[in-house]
Amino acid sequence: MRRDYYEILGVSKTASTEEIKRAYRKLALKYHPDRNPGDKEAEERFKEAAEAYEVLRDPEKRRLYDAYGHDGLKQSGFQGFTGFDDIFSSFNDIFGEFFGFSRRSYRSSWGPEPGRDLRFDLTITFEEAVKGAKKEIEIERLESCSGCNGTGLKEGTHPTTCRTCGGSGQVIRQEGFFRIATTCPRCNGFGQVIENPCPLCGGKGLRPEKKRVTIRIPAGVDSGSRLRLRDEGEAGKRGGPRGDLYIVIHVEPHDFFERRGNDIFLTVPISMVQAALGDTIEIPTIYGKKEIKVKPGTETGDVVRLRGEGAPDVRGIGRGDLICRFFVKTPQELTARQRELLEEFMAIEKERQQAEDQGEGFFKKFLKRFDFLERESEKRH
Ligand SMILES: [Zn+2]
Ligand SMILES: [Zn+2]
Repeated sequence: MRRDYYEILGVSKTASTEEIKRAYRKLALKYHPDRNPGDKEAEERFKEAAEAYEVLRDPEKRRLYDAYGHDGLKQSGFQGFTGFDDIFSSFNDIFGEFFGFSRRSYRSSWGPEPGRDLRFDLTITFEEAVKGAKKEIEIERLESCSGCNGTGLKEGTHPTTCRTCGGSGQVIRQEGFFRIATTCPRCNGFGQVIENPCPLCGGKGLRPEKKRVTIRIPAGVDSGSRLRLRDEGEAGKRGGPRGDLYIVIHVEPHDFFERRGNDIFLTVPISMVQAALGDTIEIPTIYGKKEIKVKPGTETGDVVRLRGEGAPDVRGIGRGDLICRFFVKTPQELTARQRELLEEFMAIEKERQQAEDQGEGFFKKFLKRFDFLERESEKRH
């Protein structure tokens, strides 16, 4: 499944071109490969955002996408982005417009840098996942240094132009006929260096700090659900936006409940006598005790469905069901009296069967014992 372009950029379907541009600019800065070297996920996000922007900024493509989705675009000949060249053309387009620099030189700016996203794996109980919960976690994240307000500079000093590259961020080497430009090793391409670093952060502008974060877990989450806490990731540099914090949910298994989507399954053991005669029994649900009826003639695998007793949908639309599956238990130990009664029962059963079987051959008789197989196949149809 391909993700929705509006969702990728985090804008509404009615967003203006300006809003779309702004959203893309933020994502492109954050996931730019130069800032996330070797990070495959960032690269994917970067590509995705560029493609979404390419479509949504063009009124004709946007109209097609709104009306027919990804398929509509494909039929019109738009294949999505295949390589980085496409992407940088749109990147340069927008950044050229905003800052007056292209991809090649953007490194040399002393501009803001967005903070990184963080991931936290949180294990919660089955009940907490179904009912929702409030949790407090402690994370270590980079915060803007209080000693220098995040600039990395010692108080009262300024960054100075890098002498190695003269402020361009690049050094040129001559190799035979070729002039090869590489990132300046002294300033890492920034064009400026800190000669008097802040003593607290050593010039980085950021310092690790332990922070407590309160998380509201919505009712209905499941293992693998991801919650995004905006601006709870690491601090940006030089006024750049904060990253986000992603909470990845893991749900502990329950002793007797089992979750499948929004439905909850419960195995209900009943005795063979309850199965034969029927009964009313009490069962646990996530929301408290409940009575259910066991129909006479119940077999292992028969099901009673309690509507709305499952997990709520995490988007707030309805609730799943509680599905009770009966398991008929054969008694392992009998009192003398119970044995006597069951033996009497068996004797009657045999008599009855002999009367019914009169005149039928052995195989037909044997088959009759499997009449539940027929009942099973009827149930399935
Ligand atoms: Zn330099
Ligand atoms: Zn500092």
